[in-house]
Amino acid sequence: MSAFDPDKISVPTGHYIGGRFTDSQSRSIDVARPSDGRIYAGLPIATPEDVDRAVENAWTAFKTSGWPRMAPRDRARILRRWADLVEDDVERLAPLEALGSTRPIREAASWDVPFAAEGIRFYAEHADKHGGEVVATDSDRFGLTISEPYGVIGAIAPWNFPLVMASWKLAPALAAGNAVVLKPSELTPFSVLRLAELAVEAGVPPGIFNVVQGDGRVTGDALCRHPRVAKVTFTGSTRTGAAIMATCANHGTKPVTLELGGKSPQIVFADAADLDRTAATVARAITGNAGQVCVAGSRLIVEERAANQIIDRIAAAFATLRPGATWTDDATLSPIISQPQCARIEGIVEHARASGATLVTGGERAKTNSGGAFYRPTLLTGVAADSAIVMEEVFGPVLTVQTFREEDEALALAAHPAYGLAAGVHTADLGRALRFVRGLEAGTVWVNRYGRSNDFMMPTGGYKQSGIGKDLGRQAFEANLRTKSVLIDIAAS
Ligand code: NAD
Repeated sequence: MSAFDPDKISVPTGHYIGGRFTDSQSRSIDVARPSDGRIYAGLPIATPEDVDRAVENAWTAFKTSGWPRMAPRDRARILRRWADLVEDDVERLAPLEALGSTRPIREAASWDVPFAAEGIRFYAEHADKHGGEVVATDSDRFGLTISEPYGVIGAIAPWNFPLVMASWKLAPALAAGNAVVLKPSELTPFSVLRLAELAVEAGVPPGIFNVVQGDGRVTGDALCRHPRVAKVTFTGSTRTGAAIMATCANHGTKPVTLELGGKSPQIVFADAADLDRTAATVARAITGNAGQVCVAGSRLIVEERAANQIIDRIAAAFATLRPGATWTDDATLSPIISQPQCARIEGIVEHARASGATLVTGGERAKTNSGGAFYRPTLLTGVAADSAIVMEEVFGPVLTVQTFREEDEALALAAHPAYGLAAGVHTADLGRALRFVRGLEAGTVWVNRYGRSNDFMMPTGGYKQSGIGKDLGRQAFEANLRTKSVLIDIAAS
């Protein structure tokens, strides 16, 4: 799929409740296209009353539509149909995604849309592959466990991969028989509306999947507080995750799944099989989506004797990237989501330089004619281990370099006091690779690669303050079910 004219794309707006787009009387905010900063639609901020309407709709659908009780294979069939519709809709969905987010059209068409569809398919396949167990008890009793959906799940998504992140929440929750009220990010709110329309077209009963639009402070908060929301699943920053956890604790002690921030290391040993390939991998891991990826490999920890060689190669890879609007077909560097976020990246890099870091390349905005905010891929050496640039999630294309001589030193540098989302290790030594797999405190460890594959069975989620629970894998499906214990007296009277 190739370049398109952003002004020719019609954008669905508003909330989607009970299988219909609904008007809202509430205040609205402007939504801008990241690629050129132009306002292209207004976003209604759902009030607590709007959220109540959506949740009650979901609850009623959960109780009356038959969704949780239908034969699981029938639910699976509907979800598979939904996945097919999503995939077939790529000509509409991909431009919608690219228009309002940082996802380039080629990637939106070749990865985001099909990956979201395949994720839905993966969870459809789980719908009839779970159950409870018969529990050992004495002969006068019969004991069993039953797994049941929660009811209404509140899902809150970030802006960096709007369709994919939403699908990771929706698919397992719906496959398990729940109803969902989703609040997308206020920065990238519209593409999921098309997902919701297609769900109803596929046969998901109206009300089982609703979208409420709004910000975090009003709409997201109201969703977490709502007494009928039985569980909250969230992806976003660690700070927001902590606030949501507190809200859920204080309003119903509800369970949460939290997929949060990271500051992930990429460790390179001098014996890595192919330094050219390793450098290309390291560069891709911090420049994909302009570094606006939870698992971005933002800290290069490299064996001292290989440092110069790899730094040169990474700088060369950075230089090949072309910033440009997401609707052009030759751009290879995404915009930064907003001007304030770009200013934040500038600030943290400036601070690092003022504190003694050496700039190898980048360190400034990239010039384009488009009007959006673009930041040049940036490489910094001479960074202090406890400096902000090494400790804080930048969420931009900024890579720091630290060197080591011994394995222990590498492991110590890789450890982050708060984050533990992902890590990569590059070495030809199998024993060493496995020592690092054991030693790294991270929810995902990649060896001689960096980044996920299409293996949906691999769960994703963080250690420490990078999260609680998992997206993807069997774990995400099971997290949408709760267990009921049943004990029956069967003694003959
Ligand atoms: P964010 O925390 O600012 O916002 C995420 C969502 O939470 C938005 O929809 C927002 O409106 C909502 N929100 C904000 N305050 C809220 C509140 N008090 N109550 C309820 N909802 C609230 O994050 P972001 O800037 O959209 O996304 C970037 C962050 O997400 C990064 O930290 C990144 O690492 C993280 N992320 C993590 C994963 C993962 O799988 N671990 C994946 C993608 C992104």
